Amino acid sequence: MRRISANYIFPVSSAPLKNGIIEINELGVIHNIIDTKGALSESRNLEFYNGVIIPGFVNAHCHLELSYLKNKITPQEGLPDFLTNVVKQRGVMRNEFVMENISKHDALMKQRGIVAVADISNTNNTLRVKARSKIYYHTFVETIGLSNAQEIFQKQKTIYDEFIQNGLKTSITPHAPYSVSEELFLKIKKHSEKYNSVISIHNQESKDENAMFLSKSGDLVKALTSLGVDLSSWYPSGKKSVASVINWLPKENNILFVHNTYSTQEDIDIIHKNLSSPYWCLCPMSNLYIENKLPDFSLFKSYDEKVTLGTDSLASNRDLSILDEMKTIAINSDITFNQLLKWATLNGAKFLAIDNRFGSLEKGKKPGLNVITNFDFQKMHLSESSQIKVLC
Ligand SMILES: [Zn+2]
Repeated sequence: MRRISANYIFPVSSAPLKNGIIEINELGVIHNIIDTKGALSESRNLEFYNGVIIPGFVNAHCHLELSYLKNKITPQEGLPDFLTNVVKQRGVMRNEFVMENISKHDALMKQRGIVAVADISNTNNTLRVKARSKIYYHTFVETIGLSNAQEIFQKQKTIYDEFIQNGLKTSITPHAPYSVSEELFLKIKKHSEKYNSVISIHNQESKDENAMFLSKSGDLVKALTSLGVDLSSWYPSGKKSVASVINWLPKENNILFVHNTYSTQEDIDIIHKNLSSPYWCLCPMSNLYIENKLPDFSLFKSYDEKVTLGTDSLASNRDLSILDEMKTIAINSDITFNQLLKWATLNGAKFLAIDNRFGSLEKGKKPGLNVITNFDFQKMHLSESSQIKVLC
């Protein structure tokens, strides 16, 4: 049994404990959490850390298979150019290099205190690493296509089956409103209703997404056309993207809307009115890398139980660090540390339906344990030099 203490313990599901003690067994399962009322009178066999102890992070949006694209895409050229560059880079890299990077960055996420990942996959490249990883993965096999819905769905269903047969949690998921046809959306909806799957979809990452749905104009239309996508039978709905596809999504499933850089209160309201369990994922470092624009964080404050954080892929980020995502939001908003921490841990665990094990410090859970050092105790918030140390 390890007995661990720090200046504060943040269980997330309950109030912070000054000089609290947490007891974990050799498997990392929490045996007990002791409220010392701020007085560490008994320090027998105690590991003490300067900082705050928190549960392991849940990375709610990643593309591990794209790790080989680190430093390969020019920053701040906007989403349409970013997509074009990713498609061009795909397939030109040696397979060995792709696989090495998957393995390396799985290990890196563990070092960054991440214990669970919602990971988007277009291929089965990450399967082997995930099957023996220390991290819990839920794979979202992504479908993209504005035509040939049956063929595309079947191809991705084969990858889905392979992950499932290897005992890995998996869903079939749509890429984004602008890249999936109605027919393909409806196939995914039927499949996810049958298996009660959780779903993840990129949302309003570029202003051109709305332009495409409103009037079939903007740089996204140009980028898709230049990539050879046939848009001749794609018609704009005359409504913004969210309103255009909302009825093609399953109503009862947990659905994660990722990025939301250009989302407004109106978009958020449409989603909450029409769906019973929507979640939001913010990936600010990726937004700065691709569009040099951040979402309006204040819009999400009232959905405190529903906001999660993601790193996105190394194609659009310098690191896979949830702590860095938290720092970026802290610098650019008035979101408190308590709120941010919930976004980085428990909410992602709830979205993935793994909060019986992950996301908070509670007896019987095995959530992983991190300590944040260089914490600003005066402001009770992260400082620029805050760092993560993984305890288990
Ligand atoms: Zn993404």
